[in-house]
Amino acid sequence: MPAESRSVNLIDLESIDLINSPSVKIYQESRLLNSYPEWSQIEEWLREMGIKKFVTLHQIGKTHEGRNILLLQIGENNGDKPEIFIDGALHAREWISVVTVLNIADRLIRAYEAKDDDYYELSHNIVWYVIPVVNVDGYVYSHTTERLWRKNRRLPPHRSNCYGVDLNRNWNISWSGYGSENYACSNIYHGPEPNSEPEVKAIISYLEKRKAHLKAYLSFHSYGQLIIYPYSYDIKKEPRNIEQLKKVSKNLSKETDGRYANGKASETLCTSTDWAAHHLKIPYTFTIELRDTGFYGFLLPSRYITPTVQESLKIIKVLSRTIIDENNIISE
Ligand SMILES: [Zn+2]
Repeated sequence: MPAESRSVNLIDLESIDLINSPSVKIYQESRLLNSYPEWSQIEEWLREMGIKKFVTLHQIGKTHEGRNILLLQIGENNGDKPEIFIDGALHAREWISVVTVLNIADRLIRAYEAKDDDYYELSHNIVWYVIPVVNVDGYVYSHTTERLWRKNRRLPPHRSNCYGVDLNRNWNISWSGYGSENYACSNIYHGPEPNSEPEVKAIISYLEKRKAHLKAYLSFHSYGQLIIYPYSYDIKKEPRNIEQLKKVSKNLSKETDGRYANGKASETLCTSTDWAAHHLKIPYTFTIELRDTGFYGFLLPSRYITPTVQESLKIIKVLSRTIIDENNIISE
């Protein structure tokens, strides 16, 4: 189906409960960027990249289990360049989002170093903030114990045995509304209060610090092949730049040859990108649901990593070009 005809009724496939799915053997490969890496490999890679002169590795928070939430900054933020924030794995089981975000970071870092590179302009004229794994505890748990784990690993509340909060239902925007549950055992449990989770707090404090310069926030999820613009929290409400969002998301969809549909979510949800659009007025906030449309779902075989990364890089490139043009930056 062409993208446009699908553009107004996007369904949140990823919150579908998969309790009855079979357990899955964890797939591992040695190469970090062509496989689904473990957290320890990612951490090592981030530290390696952080040594480079134009890259800074920030520890922006700690998870419930004491792991570091790590953000890679590519380029110097001296205030005159537009900035873009990207994250992956708010939801633990969405492994494709992690490897996609890692590949984006890798591509930008390589482009920064090599002048005759397609992405040179992007890496030099924009400052990038990249968190490959927001939900570190959940991601580790999805590797060691339960492949289809979605939430973080908050300890169970009083009289419950159920761990975890859905990190994309914890934001202080229409919190506890439709699309979330007040039951700790639910996969879409919104947590004890808005913005209660350390992973959410870490992102908020960073976004708030950079809000004057941030032009875009892309949150990568899976699955569904969707480019979702705000607002999802109230389907009747629209950001003031809605026409721009529609136009740009349509352009992004075109870059994927229509493989990704663009539109608003058809259900009400409180998401990180809605929060950033509403509270911080970041102009371009998109939740991007990566491959596929449901055949493999969360268990996307690693042979699909390369095409998914290529599509995402195209999306990044077109969005960056738009932002650079709007900021009238002359390329170096
Ligand atoms: Zn998700």
